[in-house]
Amino acid sequence: MTMQSLRTTNRPGVAAVLPASLLAVFAMVSPLRADEPYARSRSYDLGHSRIALRFDLERKKVLGDVTHTLSVLRDGTAKIAFDSVGLTIENVTVNKSPAKFETTAEKLIVSLPAAAKAGEKFDVSIRYEGKPTKGMYFILPDKDYPDRPIQIWTQGESEDTRYYLPTYDYPNDRLTTETILTVPASWLTISNGKLISVSDAGKGLKTWDWRETVPSSTYLITVVAGEFDEVKDSWLSLPVTYYAPKGRGDRLSVNYSRTPAMIDLFSKKLGVEYPWEKYAQVMVDDFVAGGMENSSATTNASSSLNHPKIAAEMLTDEDGLISHELGHQWFGDLVTCKDWGDIWLNEGFATFMENVWSEAHYGKDQADYERRQGGREWFSQPNLFDKPIVRYDFDDSSEFDGNAYTKGGWVLEMLRYQLGDDAFYRALKHYLEANRGKNVVTADLAKAIEESSHVNVDQFFSQWLYGAGAPKFDLGYSYDHDKHQILLTVKQTQKVEDHVGIFHVPVNVEITTASGPKLYPITVSKAEQIFTFPADSAPLMVLFDKGGNILKSAEFHKEKKEWLYQLKNGGAFADRADAVSALEKIKNDDEVVSALGNALRNDKFWGLRATAADALGQIASAGASKQLLYALDSANEPWVRYHIVAALGNFKDDSAIAAKLTEIAKVDNSYRARAAALHALGRLKTPDTLATLEAAVSSDSPDGYLRNAALGALGQLGDDKAVPLLEQWSVPGKPIESRTAAIRSLASLEKNNQDITKQIAGYLSEPNFPVRLAAVFSLGGRGDAIAVPALERLLQSDDLSIEMVPMIKRQIARLKKPAATNPPPHNGDGGESAGASASASETSGGSEAVLERLDKLERLVQEMNERLKAFETRLPPARPSSK
Ligand SMILES: [Zn+2]
Repeated sequence: MTMQSLRTTNRPGVAAVLPASLLAVFAMVSPLRADEPYARSRSYDLGHSRIALRFDLERKKVLGDVTHTLSVLRDGTAKIAFDSVGLTIENVTVNKSPAKFETTAEKLIVSLPAAAKAGEKFDVSIRYEGKPTKGMYFILPDKDYPDRPIQIWTQGESEDTRYYLPTYDYPNDRLTTETILTVPASWLTISNGKLISVSDAGKGLKTWDWRETVPSSTYLITVVAGEFDEVKDSWLSLPVTYYAPKGRGDRLSVNYSRTPAMIDLFSKKLGVEYPWEKYAQVMVDDFVAGGMENSSATTNASSSLNHPKIAAEMLTDEDGLISHELGHQWFGDLVTCKDWGDIWLNEGFATFMENVWSEAHYGKDQADYERRQGGREWFSQPNLFDKPIVRYDFDDSSEFDGNAYTKGGWVLEMLRYQLGDDAFYRALKHYLEANRGKNVVTADLAKAIEESSHVNVDQFFSQWLYGAGAPKFDLGYSYDHDKHQILLTVKQTQKVEDHVGIFHVPVNVEITTASGPKLYPITVSKAEQIFTFPADSAPLMVLFDKGGNILKSAEFHKEKKEWLYQLKNGGAFADRADAVSALEKIKNDDEVVSALGNALRNDKFWGLRATAADALGQIASAGASKQLLYALDSANEPWVRYHIVAALGNFKDDSAIAAKLTEIAKVDNSYRARAAALHALGRLKTPDTLATLEAAVSSDSPDGYLRNAALGALGQLGDDKAVPLLEQWSVPGKPIESRTAAIRSLASLEKNNQDITKQIAGYLSEPNFPVRLAAVFSLGGRGDAIAVPALERLLQSDDLSIEMVPMIKRQIARLKKPAATNPPPHNGDGGESAGASASASETSGGSEAVLERLDKLERLVQEMNERLKAFETRLPPARPSSK
């Protein structure tokens, strides 16, 4: 699935719309109940399930009748245990005869008539009902949102199908399904596989019959029913459909119409045609993930249904999300990880497939840009470094982490780089064909590569997948004029301990002299090594890992003039971006600033231009501001303009910049730039900011884009005069995204006003998940301990439809801590980087330093958002990282 927490989003100015820092926290939250890391031993094999469901909207109940066809795997099996949580079992039959059964908190155990022999088949029918607290969600209109379309949807991964269906709920079994849904005649339903029929069921009801004939695991079962709009598309003869909550059908094509082109690309690249009977994508409100790759029928968050005007300002639109979930249809659905310890075989591949689409559709630079951002993001989460990708010890964290996704995708890119495209894709084809319809572990991939290419990858797998970390290089070189030689010193500085070792990696070194570039492949394998290369004259440029093909960090000690040369002449994006990163650290240097300004205006790739804008913002000198303002005149692409405007938010006490930002906030061709200007003004706290933000709150923009940005910026501004306005936008009935922004900002104002604390605490009991979540984190950041009883009461409530418990506990702990270790949020939008920022605040000293660091983290998160929005636009549940 896609994860909001890690991948965040690609949405422009999403920071303005979504509580970016809120998302960051999810990665840190541990699940309530750890998933089973190892696959279970099985006593039966589920072959087919016929699942008939009806719904009781009033009581948010599911009424089910399921028949499992299964065969016994072990002689002497007398009982069949199904996973079943919170379901009331009314009746069970085995081969149509009444059967004895018992239930525990987590299981339904059915007695067979007698001890069975291996191979014996049974039909076990279960009639049940339940009010699911997870797995199945009822999104309904209420007094505050009377127009909301009815939506019932499920989310099985990782172990939540059991909350609405008694079944074998672990990936290491596969079954075909028939899903029979009886619903009001005006509704649509979507489930796995082919639609066989829709028939009249009387009393204004219809029965929809879906059949999936390709076996897949139970966490991939999906049931969606409710008031939806549908758009039909196709790829060859394959039906491709898109669904939106009723009334938003006109948003489907603009955001989703590249789907058939992706199916085509992936089928060709992989050499294995799209494996299911159809491909549906259903967008639902309040989804607990960004997207979920149910077999043949993906569910995505409705926030991916961008307003056409906003979509036009997004370079890659929702392609990250769409290609990720589509990639899973092969990797995850057709071939499924056997256990959660091998989840990277699902998520790393889906992340890799995003890159495949980016490279084919937007070009190599774009793919490299996204990959580089991913690498930086991964390095910025130190908790990931010492954990292997393949691991079984995720009791206190989630298996759905940045190792499974980002690093997993990187590992596949490195494999591709080392094997070459031909051998690599031949290996993937063989892996898919050999394991089609099976469950796999990491060794199955190694075996497929070896069988197809005869390349032994044991060492590669050992360090990158079973070992942890990545190389951190310290690099330097000298030129020997007499011998015409370059001596390159390569040190690996990562701390070697536990799972982290010294890496063995092939690296391309490129040396450019006056007579041109020469490429030298070397292999680095020791803690410290010196490599010697011939060079006819002193080098102009020495590149280590040309093109940035290794997941690494590197400190290359070079002179300024070399970095300037590299910025201008580096052929690959990664090499020029490395130069930007190095130059950014040189302060007060006109030559550097002017070179970065030149790159910002003239580089051939927008991503490098944006990177240069970021760097000038970091330098924040008078010269840097001139370069940014100058570039603004010609930078028309919203995705570049956004970076320039955001960078301007770093220049304090500069009235010309404040005036420019105020102007952009009011009038600009780009909504993204305007939203960035509102945030920048909030940070700069200029005298007129309050008026500008208030005006933006009442302005008209697509989906309230500017209003939401301004509501968030009011928290950054920290002016208590904004309280009445924020209170007004926090109340039920206002759009959810405006409310979450307003609530978060409100929490950072009038810290001693207990009425505000009480108002926010009142939102804890709301049914709308994003509002509830915003209230939980806002209260934690606000620091008013009178909120503790309300949060503790929330912990007791039985309608926590998602695993919010660890999040709530964490906020209670924050409130109970002495103020010194719990600094106030620096702004409305950033106060809740709880996970990331709490650890920052615990380790650094003075509050000013803490705030600065929070600010940096906040911007980092915004930047990630910037890049990967579509991705994981979901507001995850307490097990957010697990989707
Ligand atoms: Zn995924």
